[in-house]
Amino acid sequence: TVCVVGSINMDHMIGMQRLPVPGETLLGRTMGKFPGGKGFNQAVAAHRSGAAVRFFGRVGNDSEGALLREAFDQIGLEDRFLQVDPDSPTGAAQVLSLPGSENAIIVVPGANAALDVQALPEALLGADVLMVQMEVGHDTASAALALGKDAGVTTILNAAPSGSVTTATLALADIVVVNETEAAELGGVEALLQSGPDAVVLTLGARGAEWHVHGAEPIRVPAFRITPRDTTGAGDAFCGALAAALSAKISCGDALVRAAAAGAIVAMATGAQTETLCPRNLDRMIAR
Ligand code: ADP
Repeated sequence: TVCVVGSINMDHMIGMQRLPVPGETLLGRTMGKFPGGKGFNQAVAAHRSGAAVRFFGRVGNDSEGALLREAFDQIGLEDRFLQVDPDSPTGAAQVLSLPGSENAIIVVPGANAALDVQALPEALLGADVLMVQMEVGHDTASAALALGKDAGVTTILNAAPSGSVTTATLALADIVVVNETEAAELGGVEALLQSGPDAVVLTLGARGAEWHVHGAEPIRVPAFRITPRDTTGAGDAFCGALAAALSAKISCGDALVRAAAAGAIVAMATGAQTETLCPRNLDRMIAR
């Protein structure tokens, strides 16, 4: 079982030619509304990679929160640990999608910022892996990792966004997952290893991924050769599938391959959550 503690948002996407300047009104071309948030994306990816998943997060007492709860039902994900905040709205992201697959994004955390980890020990009962990212804020992420340590589960920190990550937080993670930008912001892979985790997993987009440990050559896996359509959420799919594989006691090298396959499958589709991610398609991608 994988327990994911993290953010859950409603993403509002508008496709447009360019960004408006202050005082200007522009016409958009398309719009859509999708469930999102790094935490929820990773939970869905872990579930679609075949793991039993508990998502631990918080929405507002509003229509968007109700829509997100319905999404749990459609996806087949348990919503027992989804909290409802009486005061703050459901987290939201405004994604302005520009030509050439560039995005400008505004996130309003809302209820995510009020996530309460008091009930987390219950969600960790019988779990093998805890996955945390930084979108719920530094203190909540740290508290969650500390509770994971107490429960004796494997703790994974996806240090994204990396701005508020401290060495104390890194020390609570058994495994830290970062992309190249985050690794650079945190002083590089060596510095990350020095802060305490057993392993640092570095994702390299179309160049694959690496599993770094102290005093040994990293395990390197190439990316699967695909034609990317929308790489949004590739990193989240990678993290979710990695957590699922590790909870199934798959070795780190094979887990890395499965995670890279999940990243590739999501990069081939539009959006961060795609139904084409499933155990059968993971096996197919790996077998090519
Ligand atoms: P993030 O989305 O967090 O920046 P990356 O871009 O490093 O993360 O992508 C995460 C993983 O997804 C990569 O390690 C790789 O395995 C897979 N991936 C991402 N983009 C591609 C791509 N264009 N082709 C194949 N695999 C990809």
